Amino acid sequence: MPNAILCITGSELTRGETKDLNGPFLATRFSEMGIRVDEILLVPDEPALLDNAIRKSIARADVAVLSGGLGPTADDHTVAVLGGVFNRKVLRHPEAQDRMRARALARGLTEESIPTNFYKQAEVIEGAHVLLNPVGLAPGMIVTTERGLLVVLPGVPREMQAMFTELVVPAIQDRFRLTPPRILRGKILGIGESWAEGRIQGLEIDFKTVEYGISAKPGELLVKFISHAPTGHAYLDHVKALLLKEFAGEIFFLPEGLTDASGAAMEVEHSRIVHNLLASSGLKLATAESCTGGAIAKSLTDHAGSSAYLVGAIVAYSNEAKERLLRVPGELLERHGSVSAEVCEAMARGALELFSADIAISVTGIAGPGGGSEEKPVGLVFTGLAARRPGGEVTTTAIRNTFGGQREMVRQAATVKALDLVREELTICR
Ligand code: ATP
Ligand code: MG
Repeated sequence: MPNAILCITGSELTRGETKDLNGPFLATRFSEMGIRVDEILLVPDEPALLDNAIRKSIARADVAVLSGGLGPTADDHTVAVLGGVFNRKVLRHPEAQDRMRARALARGLTEESIPTNFYKQAEVIEGAHVLLNPVGLAPGMIVTTERGLLVVLPGVPREMQAMFTELVVPAIQDRFRLTPPRILRGKILGIGESWAEGRIQGLEIDFKTVEYGISAKPGELLVKFISHAPTGHAYLDHVKALLLKEFAGEIFFLPEGLTDASGAAMEVEHSRIVHNLLASSGLKLATAESCTGGAIAKSLTDHAGSSAYLVGAIVAYSNEAKERLLRVPGELLERHGSVSAEVCEAMARGALELFSADIAISVTGIAGPGGGSEEKPVGLVFTGLAARRPGGEVTTTAIRNTFGGQREMVRQAATVKALDLVREELTICR
């Protein structure tokens, strides 16, 4: 498998002012194409450091990529440094320069008013294959190296992405025989990392045939199984079947691969997945929260467009609020306690009726550190769902979980679990 090293330049990145978007974009695309990314280097706008990074990258990588520093300002050193590294002249690319002039004149500027440094952006090194910028001014380059290719791209993410997709991918595919991997990713909810790991290790998966990884966030784990060789692709079906059997209701699989139809990295954040499902469902959602204190409503309203489905949210912390706002019968509260399946279902039903929603979710639990008992320990959480069926009938369910960790971990895990009831309802029940 060819390897790649990415040099992402810009002092605003190494100072921490700007978050690097180019490294993750390129790494995702390379991984999906079957190119292993060995390093992502962040390099400031400093010629000596840039020189060093370029030499190291082209010596060690089949595909070296350099992004940034192609602009007109004094801190844009990329082309001059490349001239030194390859011992080649720096030239102005006539077609790039003509495009720049035409662009400036079209904006009503006169030839005389164009500052001399403007055309610095048209500079390339001798002998490079020039990539005319599909959406901006500065051209990119592909330079043949002893090992393979050095790809030089603008720093502006939009320009870099367009140039990479339109011009660089075909050039790389021409130069290398790539075998794209098959990438299977699943989310496991409500189980701790060590517990899930133990159960996965018990499945006797052949980890020589598939690469395996797991990453954890409160309440959710992302597990990935990658087969690099085409001979291992079919084995992933077996792995998937083993996981489904072991984790039944606790796992769901993301669409295969790393990018969505638009070429952007696929969304793995749980609230975003559920948001997307709700936004395209045409259904109305309401929430009733106790121990999560509004975190479910917050995580959905974090995403633009949530008004399309979220009607309203109630935080009913006290028993009195549960009775008065959500019409939870006092008798249920007395008999089962506020942290119970019965009350959780009644909260969901109450929110559904109050907001005339199609679906409502609810949470009640003990986030801790105080308030636990032997029968109802800290971490005990009920998540509930009420749904209006086509005939108008309302059905309710509640699920009992005991989450580990501190208060905030319990609350986050509860939020993920409640959101997942919506995902299940929309993807499995409807
Ligand atoms: P330009 O021709 O626009 O000057 P350039 O190739 O010289 O492009 P830079 O000067 O390095 O690129 O950066 C231009 C803009 O793009 C800056 O706002 C910068 O913060 C942003 N940018 C550059 N590299 C990255 C990156 N890796 N991630 C996010 N933003 C970036
Ligand atoms: Mg610049």
